[in-house]
Amino acid sequence: MAPRPTDLLTLTREGLYCPGGDFHVDPVRPVPRALITHGHADHARAGHGRVLATAETLRIMAVRYGEAFCESRQEAALGATLRLGDVAVRFAPAGHVLGSAQIAIERAACRIVVSGDYKRAPDPTCLPFEVVPCDVFITEATFGLPVFRHPDARAEVRRLLASVRLFPERTHIVGAYALGKAQRVMALLREEGFEAPIYLHGAMEKLTDLYRREGIPVGETIKVAAAERPKLGGRIVICPPSAIQDLWSRKFPDPVTAFASGWMQVRARARQKGVELPLVISDHSDWDALCRTIRDTGAGEVWVTHGQEDALVHWCGTQGIRARPLHMLGYGDEGEAEPDAAPGDRLPEAAA
Ligand SMILES: [Zn+2]
Ligand SMILES: [Zn+2]
Repeated sequence: MAPRPTDLLTLTREGLYCPGGDFHVDPVRPVPRALITHGHADHARAGHGRVLATAETLRIMAVRYGEAFCESRQEAALGATLRLGDVAVRFAPAGHVLGSAQIAIERAACRIVVSGDYKRAPDPTCLPFEVVPCDVFITEATFGLPVFRHPDARAEVRRLLASVRLFPERTHIVGAYALGKAQRVMALLREEGFEAPIYLHGAMEKLTDLYRREGIPVGETIKVAAAERPKLGGRIVICPPSAIQDLWSRKFPDPVTAFASGWMQVRARARQKGVELPLVISDHSDWDALCRTIRDTGAGEVWVTHGQEDALVHWCGTQGIRARPLHMLGYGDEGEAEPDAAPGDRLPEAAA
């Protein structure tokens, strides 16, 4: 008889736990054995005993936390099946950021896929999402409302370049998260033929260097030196979102502030952050991609970790798919979610 999914994977204080393999997935507290889906800080934390993740994710963790981020590490090759205790485990690409993976956990006739964070849109910085058929699909729902529709990221980057042409004297300061989004924006700028050096806030440097070593075409980048800021008219500068409103950004000549985030569809959010040029570029799935992915996996059951859980759970019900919210705490991507946002503030004013 097939085991019940909750025997294969249960929810503990530390996060999702697999008793048969004695490991946690993306635990929010230190554990003896952790399987990590990707390098964002809410999924990949320092201080675990053994860590199993893709080679890229392990290197990202080492860059962020230092080489001693765990006691021992093991690389998971994409597509290879590993046996841990009495379960089989397989990592598959998630299309979210460099090295990101879904983790399929299987025993007897039951397969659960923990997707971590994922998107279906093309991204020159990581492998595309792979559909893994499963019985239970575990998904986030950061943008789990029908009103969220992410446009083509390439078109958003073309809007940035159009603004650079329109205001050749002004510095374009683009806020983007340091892991993934920043490098995706750079690679998309290169795809659109932008060849000038891209200037980086110091906080983006180490991860961008890592992406370059991994072969991602980010092109020439230059760290912004304090004294140079007034001379960077006409240049594109990429910085952490928090720096857009900082004193740091005011030293540039007549800056145009941009922010690359799925949340930029929420116009109030852009205004509140003083963003002149909102770029709707998301590393998460929008509503259609969430629904399509759930259907593609053929899962009869869906667990929703966090985000706009209610709408997605309700939609599953209309499709005859059993679904439940996990209300998991500790997630909310550095990549996209904004912990400082007030509750009703998460809802978009209108669909773009
Ligand atoms: Zn993430
Ligand atoms: Zn996340």
